[in-house]
Amino acid sequence: MIHDKPDTGRRHFLRGAITGVIAVPIAGLLGARAAAAADKPHLDPTNAQAKALNYVHDAGQASDHPAFKEGSNCANCIQWTGGDAEWGGCNIFPANTVNRNGWCTAWAPRSG
Ligand code: SF4
Repeated sequence: MIHDKPDTGRRHFLRGAITGVIAVPIAGLLGARAAAAADKPHLDPTNAQAKALNYVHDAGQASDHPAFKEGSNCANCIQWTGGDAEWGGCNIFPANTVNRNGWCTAWAPRSG
């Protein structure tokens, strides 16, 4: 007997299973990364690099800065790696955590 029709149900199942096998470790890595970042000290706004980028813990304090965009903060910045945490990682300040409500002049919108 010749099967002209592909076994789409089986193929769909295998594709879902493979996606799950890949997605679970990635989610675990991202969670571990966020947890590791949370252990780092809070960024001191008087730190030289923080000052150079006008970092503040509260974006409201930066609202008069010419580069500030209404609604921008660390939690919606492309550099934020903190997930839902109040204090989380930022790719610009890898030795510290920044506040999710913070802001600096390196802010760029996160897509999606
Ligand atoms: Fe916050 Fe983004 Fe600046 Fe990092 S780069 S401190 S996440 S605004």
